Amino acid sequence: MISADWKRVLARAEALALSWYASLPERPVGPRATARVVLDAIDRPVPEVPSDPVDVLEDLARKADPGLTAIPGGRFFGWVIGGGLPSSVAADWLTTAWDQNAGSAEGTPSAAAFEQVALRWVIELLDLPRHASGALVTGTQMAHVVCLAAARTRLLSSAGWDVERDGLFGAPRIRALVGGERHDTVDKALRLLGFGSAALSVVDVDSVGRMVPAALERSLGTTSEGAIVCVQAGNVNGGAIDALSEIAAIVEGQRARGRPCWLHVDGAFGLWARASRNRAALARGAERADSWATDAHKWLNTPYDLGVALTAHPDDHRRAMSIHAGYLPQTRDPGVRVPSDFTPELSRRARGFALYAALHELGRSGVSELVERCCTLAARFAEGLARVPGAEVLNEVTLNQVVVRLRDPSGVDDDEHTRQVVARVAEEGTCVVSATSWRGGAGLRVSVSNWSTTEEDVQRSVDAIARAHLREHD
Ligand SMILES: *Cc1c(COP(=O)(O)O)cnc(C)c1O
Repeated sequence: MISADWKRVLARAEALALSWYASLPERPVGPRATARVVLDAIDRPVPEVPSDPVDVLEDLARKADPGLTAIPGGRFFGWVIGGGLPSSVAADWLTTAWDQNAGSAEGTPSAAAFEQVALRWVIELLDLPRHASGALVTGTQMAHVVCLAAARTRLLSSAGWDVERDGLFGAPRIRALVGGERHDTVDKALRLLGFGSAALSVVDVDSVGRMVPAALERSLGTTSEGAIVCVQAGNVNGGAIDALSEIAAIVEGQRARGRPCWLHVDGAFGLWARASRNRAALARGAERADSWATDAHKWLNTPYDLGVALTAHPDDHRRAMSIHAGYLPQTRDPGVRVPSDFTPELSRRARGFALYAALHELGRSGVSELVERCCTLAARFAEGLARVPGAEVLNEVTLNQVVVRLRDPSGVDDDEHTRQVVARVAEEGTCVVSATSWRGGAGLRVSVSNWSTTEEDVQRSVDAIARAHLREHD
């Protein structure tokens, strides 16, 4: 075995990382090679003999480069994606070097302690019930799984059924009520937990994708069957937030007449409005929910991957997730949280360090400012695009999302034209935006979620989109 020369290999990694960061302002934002091209360059049989670690790194960086997307840069506006705050990226490097297995408080005390405090800070910033339990997972997808598993445990136990012991076969029915524009990860989480699509009731939404409270009330009906209501803080297209207070009141009313009900919030990015000074009111009412799924790798700008699951029912959460392995030491300090009591995984990356670092770097005012700044830049983006002939902004830009439709200058097919503009913009390289299907047609979708995006980035990107749109005129 070749012994690793730490200094040599880590110095090389640092230099490669710095040259990546240095390339971000001007490299094409989209990838220059497809996965097929990258595959063709690397797909060979397993190496027969060892290689020098520095050579391995050089080879990796050289072959990966063409297929890398400038996600941490200021002009990646696709999906909803943050960059990585410097302290958070560096803490993530240390996390790798420290190599802690974050499952146990006794075995890896610092991983457990930093995670516990970082979770409490998130709860404070989002102004959620201070007794909430939490888990750090890969993303909102798994946060849904954790939250909805706790919901399943609680609702079935109030119907007299022990799902941990008896499983789901023969269990009382629970319905899941979801909005017509929920994120698909909600369906997948429910599916993993044994709720087929037949157990879902899809509730009508308004023109910007918000669940209609009266429709929810109708759909809930008057049965005593347990119900999980999944609402959304931040529509993945236009950013709209459901009428959380009104919906919370409906759920509380159901509960008051004896029906087991659980309110879950998909707040992957939109929940962070609560951490901002001027937009917190948009997500008022979320504090009345039973669980919340959100991401740190989106709006908080930690590196991937970092999702957060929070529930107002620590006992149900623990019951759904805890594990008892005789060989693992158990802490006896009641003030110390045992991480593996709350996550699906046992062995796990110590994500708490990167989360703690991001929150420490920004502080309360910095998080607020980050959220406000992205919203302001999104509004600027919308104003710029609205001035482009043939462009129509489809959403009210209250958060960090903008959706525009672009009229085909040749008058043939607006949908096809809009999708082509998205592709042309990526090809030209100034920025990346995404194509979506929303409000009855294709849309060009912009998400401003990166801490490093500037006004100039927005202006350059608006100009690039305008050029791609008007090219046929030239
Ligand atoms: C991004 C997103 C998700 C999925 O989050 P992951 O971190 O990719 O698992 C779920 N819901 C909404 C509203 C999102 O924006």
